[in-house]
Amino acid sequence: MKLGDIRTIGVVGAGQMGRGISHVCARAGYHVLLVDVADPPLTEALTTIRGGLERAVERGNLTPHQAGEALALIHPVTRLDQLRVAQLIIEAIPEDLALKQDLFAGLDRICEPRAVFASNTSSISITKLGAASGRPDRVVGLHFMNPAPVMRLVEVVRGLQTSEQTMTLALDFTTQLGKTAVVAKDAPGFIVNRILIPMINEAIFVLQEGVASAQDIDLAMTAGTNHPVGPLALADRIGLDTVFAICEVLYQDLGDSKFRPCPLLRRYVETGRLGRKSGRGFHLYEASGDGCEVVGRRP
Ligand code: NAD
Repeated sequence: MKLGDIRTIGVVGAGQMGRGISHVCARAGYHVLLVDVADPPLTEALTTIRGGLERAVERGNLTPHQAGEALALIHPVTRLDQLRVAQLIIEAIPEDLALKQDLFAGLDRICEPRAVFASNTSSISITKLGAASGRPDRVVGLHFMNPAPVMRLVEVVRGLQTSEQTMTLALDFTTQLGKTAVVAKDAPGFIVNRILIPMINEAIFVLQEGVASAQDIDLAMTAGTNHPVGPLALADRIGLDTVFAICEVLYQDLGDSKFRPCPLLRRYVETGRLGRKSGRGFHLYEASGDGCEVVGRRP
């Protein structure tokens, strides 16, 4: 499979990453089949994508006609078998190894043999996903950052059996989307999350130990180290369930106690405080018109 062969992309999972990736692919002119298990996340996804395209028009980055064309390229579907026409599949379902392995095994039965499967996983082994896919040479990590339409980076992750041809395709595709690629070995958390998640986890320990309030921890890191967003606000944006899942992968796969998830993080996830997507994490959020959310009061 070469870059020029890709016309239709299947994006599986219409959560915050799947909708951002669909937005980016449609803006690059690809047909996108966006799959989720039910209609509500797909409807919400289209609202978010429309809102994002409208903001791009307001900023003068797109004409209204281009925004309309991009939106028309995205087709929401609820059946996985509709992906049989796609040349590239990008999965963005929850950070759960068994769920992703099942998906890749299912996709192998549906998709044409030369189709390439990419995972947007934050930390899970691409080699393990490749083994479940029946086509390990055509499985690669394409780790977009959040929000995908805004962030420039994509980590391109080479599994143990990913072929050179698949790596070339993944790198060419990333460039075609206007993104900046870095290549990472298939190691837990790759580059970004190996560094970022321990910092976020440590910020949660600082909160748990009562060293400072959530607001002051974030202020310390924005005003004190010029981070554009504080670690707790960033965790809320990523989703605390996802942060917790990444911590667990780092801890289990690297076997070092320095990666153990903070108990407070576990408690928040267990009680459904997942960050922006549930309206409450380390901070409180209120829904706004286009499906985005804004910071509200102290929790
Ligand atoms: P999310 O919870 O917002 O969305 C996941 C979506 O997948 C949901 O809409 C859910 O209904 C759907 N889904 C679940 N099982 C499915 C299935 N079998 N088939 C189709 N759809 C299914 O999650 P997210 O934050 O978008 O994360 C998705 C992936 O992207 C994870 O692997 C995560 O680690 C990774 N990622 C997340 C971020 C982030 O900041 N949140 C950044 C980079 C990568």
